[in-house]
Amino acid sequence: MSIESNPHLNNPKTLEVMSRVLKANDTEAAANRACFEQMGLLAINLMSGPGSGKTTLLEATAKAADFRFGVIEGDLETERDADRLRAVGVRAYQIVTGTSCHLNAKMVQKAINPLGLDELDVLFVENVGNLVCPASHELGTHLNVVLLSTPEGDDKVLKYPVMFRKADLVLVTKVDLAEHFDFDVQKVRREVQQLRPDTPTIALSAKTGEGIEQWLAFIAQQRNGA
Ligand code: MG
Ligand code: ZN
Repeated sequence: MSIESNPHLNNPKTLEVMSRVLKANDTEAAANRACFEQMGLLAINLMSGPGSGKTTLLEATAKAADFRFGVIEGDLETERDADRLRAVGVRAYQIVTGTSCHLNAKMVQKAINPLGLDELDVLFVENVGNLVCPASHELGTHLNVVLLSTPEGDDKVLKYPVMFRKADLVLVTKVDLAEHFDFDVQKVRREVQQLRPDTPTIALSAKTGEGIEQWLAFIAQQRNGA
């Protein structure tokens, strides 16, 4: 059945239920935000398609950062990403979402106590790998950082505008592979700004270390302003 002919999506009752669920999520997100502020930490929501290098970025961040951070991991199954971060000394809490293709504010709330946020400066929430619906679910974080890796292609910004419009920062990852995939970083930079002027784009590679310093400088700047 096509979306257009799906009667549920035009049903006022369904739309009303969906809007109630999103409103309830906003309330939980506001509670999370209040908690983060009380602990004096900067909370960053990392979003991207699967395999763009979110966990790898966090591993590289762990090696270079001069601040303490924890990570809330969201995946449909497994503790793999949390285990990878624990292996480099990062405090990580894994949320297993089962069938949910995004994190919501309530899931994040459950991770707050086990992580012990009062001893941290920054909290990263690594959302479920998905360029679509994580953008529509507020978590209470201060910033949205969206990753796009060079193998995914430089055409994705305008194809997923809902996600990229939410980005406070775009990271082009695996930039060491750019020429193999004919990936045009400047085009991405332009299209990001077309959707949301003044949004910076940093090209980086966890492999070569390119851009990591700029990434850390961005976080430092946000921490000072937060
Ligand atoms: Mg990951
Ligand atoms: Zn979803």
